Amino acid sequence: MYPPVGLSPEDVVPSGDYYKAEMNRLRGNAIVQAAETEAVLAEILRILDPSATNRTRTAGQLIAEIKKRLDAHTLGRWSWALCAITEAIERRNRIVHDTVQIGYSWRDYATGDGGEHVPVISLLGTKDMDEVDLRNDLERQQEATESAIKILHFLQHRDGESEEARYCETCMENKEGQQADGG
Ligand SMILES: [Zn+2]
Repeated sequence: MYPPVGLSPEDVVPSGDYYKAEMNRLRGNAIVQAAETEAVLAEILRILDPSATNRTRTAGQLIAEIKKRLDAHTLGRWSWALCAITEAIERRNRIVHDTVQIGYSWRDYATGDGGEHVPVISLLGTKDMDEVDLRNDLERQQEATESAIKILHFLQHRDGESEEARYCETCMENKEGQQADGG
C-alpha cells in the first residue's frame, strides 16, 4: 500500500506469498490424502484386533501395530505395500512440519532499463523443493492409500467364503488375473 521511500526496486524483495500459496495448497492435498490412508490403516487394525482400536494412534503407530499382528506369510506378501505406506507417512510428517520459503534474485532487464525480482528457489524446511516435488508427493500419498485399501480388501475377503467375497468384483478380477498368470 505504501511505496517504500528512498528504496530502489532492487531493495524491495517480494514476499513470495503467491508461490507459497500454491505450494501450501499442494501440501494440503497431500496431507488430506495421508489422512485417508490413516483411516484405512485404522480399519485394518480393527479387523486384526478389535480391542486395539480403543485409543487414537498416529499413522506410524498404526502401521507398527498392524505389522505386529500380521503373520509372516501375509507380511511377506504385502511388504511392498507396507513399505510404500511407511515411506508416505514419513514424507507426510515432513510436509506437515516444515514451512515454505521462496528465494528471489534480482535480474536486470536486457534493455538496461530496470529489472525485476524472479523466484529462483523454493524451500520446504531447509530442502530445495518445488511444486513438481509436491505433486509427486501427492501421487505417493494416493498410492499409499491404494496400497492400504488392497491390504484391507485382502484381509476382508481372503478366505473367499463369505457371501460378500463371492460376489466381490475385486476378488473376481484377482481370480481372473491369477488364472491368466497360470497360478
Ligand atoms: Zn473381495
